[in-house]
Parts: sequence; structure tokens; C-alpha cells
Amino acid sequence: MVRQTFDVIVCGAGPAGLALATLLAPNRRVLLLERRASQGIGPRIGESLPGAAAPLLHKLGVLEQFHRGGHRERGPAIAVWDRETPVWKDAILDPNGPGWHLDRRGFEAMLRQRTLESGASLVDGCRHIRIERQQGSWQLGTGDVQYGAPVVVDATGRASGIARQLGLHQSTEDPLLCLYSFLDSHPDDPDCSMRIQADEQGWWYTVPLPGDKRVLAYHLDSDNPLWRQLKRGADFLALARQHPLLAEALQGLAPARMQCRPAGTAMLNVTALESVGDGFLAVGDALFSFDPISSQGLFHSLASAASAANAIIAGSTDALDRHRREMQTVAAQYLFHWRGTYQGPARFGRYPFWQRRQGFQAAATQALVS
Ligand SMILES: Cc1cc2nc3c(=O)[nH]c(=O)nc-3n(C[C@H](O)[C@H](O)[C@H](O)COP(=O)(O)OP(=O)(O)OC[C@H]3O[C@@H](n4cnc5c(N)ncnc54)[C@H](O)[C@@H]3O)c2cc1C
Repeated sequence: MVRQTFDVIVCGAGPAGLALATLLAPNRRVLLLERRASQGIGPRIGESLPGAAAPLLHKLGVLEQFHRGGHRERGPAIAVWDRETPVWKDAILDPNGPGWHLDRRGFEAMLRQRTLESGASLVDGCRHIRIERQQGSWQLGTGDVQYGAPVVVDATGRASGIARQLGLHQSTEDPLLCLYSFLDSHPDDPDCSMRIQADEQGWWYTVPLPGDKRVLAYHLDSDNPLWRQLKRGADFLALARQHPLLAEALQGLAPARMQCRPAGTAMLNVTALESVGDGFLAVGDALFSFDPISSQGLFHSLASAASAANAIIAGSTDALDRHRREMQTVAAQYLFHWRGTYQGPARFGRYPFWQRRQGFQAAATQALVS
């Protein structure tokens, strides 16, 4: 058995883990362990980055490179949400700037390159990471290598696979599922808007992406049999086209492969993190997975990584407490906005999708923020 020691081990090389490793590397010996052996090809869901992320990208030293990365500036958002008539919100009115629709793979490749340049060590293909606490230190085993560190951070995304091994589980009451498809769009597609449409069963969005693609996504409950009926791309597209707002943007586009992902709000209890042992943190989706309606998941990944990096570098109990309080405030603000958003389409209030969301929100707020 090979043994190696580091100051910090980060599990998961998504945006949160990469950002954290980059920020820590100048001050700490950092190891990043990633489950996937390769980075995948084709577009990836999760593509809206708000303008408020620019200072974080600057802090990571990638802002200039990001601007050259072919990401599309966000256009207006047009929503049929609170009422049946479309409401237009101009992206330019956002005080932080309009933000971007990302080439998500390109974005992660850029972060990965920056992490490696910063001096962090990265091991891909770690399929089974075992964690245990031995004599006040964390020991992580993968294959026949054992890594030790006083600080371990779970950045494994929604699965929060490392926290789970330690008996910590995200709240999972929200059965929101996202059905989506990447459609080939016309190179000269003039539409740059994000279109959001609520209906009886859930809500849709479509946005143009870099590389002549358009994503079309429908969010509904996993126990709604409708999602099984929409596994054929042609049926999915036909249902979307029943809404004039979506039909206009989808004109002439052909069906494509359907994909599906859980997308509901899921949160770890921040105070419970302390209970498993000193030096255990979680960032990004592993800490809080936000509903895609918020468009805040990537921003939260970068921001929670920056907050955790500050706490780890300071190294004091006070700094860790401040970080945890900051994360609790983030959770409280998110839940407040989430509740308000789902109360919007009051005309659908009698349908289970909209009704049950009011129930989860009350429960989630009580469990996580009180
Ligand atoms: C349908 C949908 C739409 C979304 N749309 C948006 C959007 O428009 N805007 C936005 O900001 N956000 C959006 N999001 C959310 C956004 O994609 C996530 O918040 C973001 O990817 C979280 O980054 P992360 O690094 O925390 O986790 P991830 O991106 O999930 O990365 C986790 C990494 O950990 C690795 N990993 C997993 N398990 C292990 C393990 N056991 N050991 C080691 N490594 C492991 C994974 O392979 C991965 O590389 C959306 C999410 C969904 C589901």
C-alpha cells in the first residue's frame, strides 16, 4: 500500500472542487480526487452563469481566458410564469451584468487547466474512495493508494458521496426531474433569449448555446407518469411546441436524444457537518443542490469554494464558524427566493406539482435554517 499525505484532499473535480483546489494550491499541498477517468464530450446541462460570477473568475485568475472562451452573453429572459402573458426582463438591467450561456465543457476544461497550473495534484479515475478517520486525521483509500490529510472537502456534486459514507444525507424531499435534449440549431438563429414557461405539470426552458446548439428542458415530478411518455424526442418537442413562447424558438428544429437528471433542491445540514470530525467540509452541489430555476448552481459552486478556501487558509475555529454561518445564510436566502418563485403561477395552484412545492419549502426551511 502506497501512502501519501497532503494538507487538503478535495473529492470531485467539478467546478466547485476545481475552484477550491486552485484557490488553496498556492498555500497548501492539495490533492484532488476525481471519479471519472475522462471528461466526456458533447454539451452538458447547467449552462447559465450570472454576471455576479465575474469577480470569482477574476479571483481564480481565469477571467480573461473566460472572455475568450466563446461563451454567449445572456440575452433577455422571457417568462410565461406569474400570468399567461409573456413578461420580458432585459439582461442588461442586471446590475452585475447580463451573464453568459456557457460552453459548459469548455468552462470546466478551462478551470481544470488553471487548477493544474496552480500546482494542485489531480488523480482521475478514482472509482471507489473509502474515507475513515484515524487518530485525528482523515484517511482516503482508492485502489492500493492511501492518502491522508487533516482536511477533506466533499465536492462530489449532488451525490455528496463522501459525506454520505460518513452518515450525512442531503434532504431529498423534492422529486424534481429534468428531462432535456440538446437540439441542433440554425447557425443564423437570431434568438438570444432564455424562454421560461410554466404549465400544469411543471416548467420548461429553452436557451441557445454556443456551437449552434439549443437546450430544451422540462422540469416535472419523478412520480408523474408523463416523463416516461416523453422519452421520445419527437413527443417531447411536440409537447413543448404547444406553448407559443417555446414554439417560436423551436421552429424547424429536429428531435434529438433525450436525457434525464434529478434536479430538485437537496441540502446538507451545515451544522451536522461538524459532527463527523474536525476538518470535514462540503462545497458546491455536495453542500446545496439548487433548483435550476434559480440559475445559481454554478455561481454557488464557485462562491462556496471561495468561502471554504478562506476558512481553510485561516485555519481557525472562528474562520470555520464564519464560513458555516455564511453558508446557512446562503441556504436561507435561497429558500426564501425559491418559495416566492414557486408561488408565482398561482393559476396552477390546484395541480400537484405546484401544490406540493409549497409543502417541501416549509419543511426544508424549518429543517435547515432554524
Ligand atoms: C437540469 C439542470 C440544469 C441546471 N442548470 C443550471 C444553470 O443554468 N445554471 C447554473 O448555474 N447551474 C445549473 N445547474 C446546476 C449546476 O450544474 C451545478 O450546480 C454544478 O454543476 C455544481 O458543480 P459541482 O462542482 O458542485 O458538482 P458537479 O458539477 O456535479 O461535479 C462533481 C464532480 O465530482 C465527481 N464525483 C462524483 N462522485 C464522486 C466520488 N464519489 N468521488 C470522486 N469524484 C466524484 C463528478 O464526476 C464530478 O466531476 C443545473 C443542474 C441541473 C441538474
